[in-house]
Amino acid sequence: MNARWLPSFVAGTRIQASVDADAIAHNLAVIRAHAGAASPAPRIWATAKADAYGHGLSLAMPGLGQADGIAVQQLPEAHACRAAGWQGPILVYGGLLAEEDIAQLDLADLHLVISHEAQLDWLASCPPRPDAPAVWLRYDGDIRLAGFSDEAYARAYARCTALAAQHRIGAIGHLSHYARAEDEDGVAEADARFRQVIAGLPGLVSTCNSAALLRHPGHVCATDWVRPGIALYGVSPLAGIDGPALGLRPAMTLTARLFAVQTLPAGASIGYRAAFVASRDMRVGLVSCGYGDGYPRHAGTGTPVLAGGRRTRLLGRVTMDVMIIDLDGIDHAAPGMPVVLWGTPDLPVETVAASAGTIAAELLTGLTARVPFTARD
Ligand SMILES: *Cc1c(COP(=O)(O)O)cnc(C)c1O
Repeated sequence: MNARWLPSFVAGTRIQASVDADAIAHNLAVIRAHAGAASPAPRIWATAKADAYGHGLSLAMPGLGQADGIAVQQLPEAHACRAAGWQGPILVYGGLLAEEDIAQLDLADLHLVISHEAQLDWLASCPPRPDAPAVWLRYDGDIRLAGFSDEAYARAYARCTALAAQHRIGAIGHLSHYARAEDEDGVAEADARFRQVIAGLPGLVSTCNSAALLRHPGHVCATDWVRPGIALYGVSPLAGIDGPALGLRPAMTLTARLFAVQTLPAGASIGYRAAFVASRDMRVGLVSCGYGDGYPRHAGTGTPVLAGGRRTRLLGRVTMDVMIIDLDGIDHAAPGMPVVLWGTPDLPVETVAASAGTIAAELLTGLTARVPFTARD
């Protein structure tokens, strides 16, 4: 393992997540190069919802400076982006959750995704203003998690046109999100339906999450704004290939410590429910990380970790505070040694997620409050 990938440990911490804003900036540039093949190149809404995919908005923000806009889920996050120093446009995927959210619209260069009629009712009740928020009408498409159906779309657009004439909203755009962007045949049909629905309706178009961008580069030409999220943080959105293989750099490294070394005689078991039984005499280590930190309990024997720069494996069952690792062949293992759990080119979080039967985004957003975060030095 390259020493560059081992963040320095803050004294006294049993576990830490270090966030590399330079890696995020690098990943943004890689994504821009992909999108740049289209002409004119689309602009980029850098998606930073869920506290920048669990990295912490303020730690991630220095890496997002070259984005054209930042996208979040809810209005309070939009205000947090401004507080963290972001001056550019902000897109709110969830738009307004309830009528009282109209009290939070006082933000320059605000863009709201509008997915249902009640949100338009609430906007209609706002006083006119010269800098009223722009809206992006969401088409429900094949994902159907939010948005207007084929039948409802044109009516919603007509309402927006009237609200824009009254200066209750600004520009009107069109937004669609694909259910199966990672598949070869995942976007063509959904996109054709979207284009049919918005045909003849003026406005900029936004499509393409990370998977659509990387899997369907040809499709990117037809969009004005793309919306990558997970790839910004160095994680591949595609099955069978990890972020480093796509030229992305992991933005979060999770590191704990080896705090005890034990010899396990052949036949001895270790951990709750005797989940691991040694088939021969072996050295094992206890590591200061567990599911109480957000490490997945479903990661079983064989899940890779890096101890003392060597790749080894998890044994048995993860507990709330502790996990057990194999120290076979790691002769220099000693208490205090850092153990990397995920987030290097050799150990991308995707690998751990696959071992635990989940996806990287769940692990990144699932670290608990007892894990301290630091900026990568
Ligand atoms: C989360 C989200 C994105 C980003 O998706 P990734 O798969 O993380 O790239 C884009 N658009 C919408 C509407 C989203 O909710």
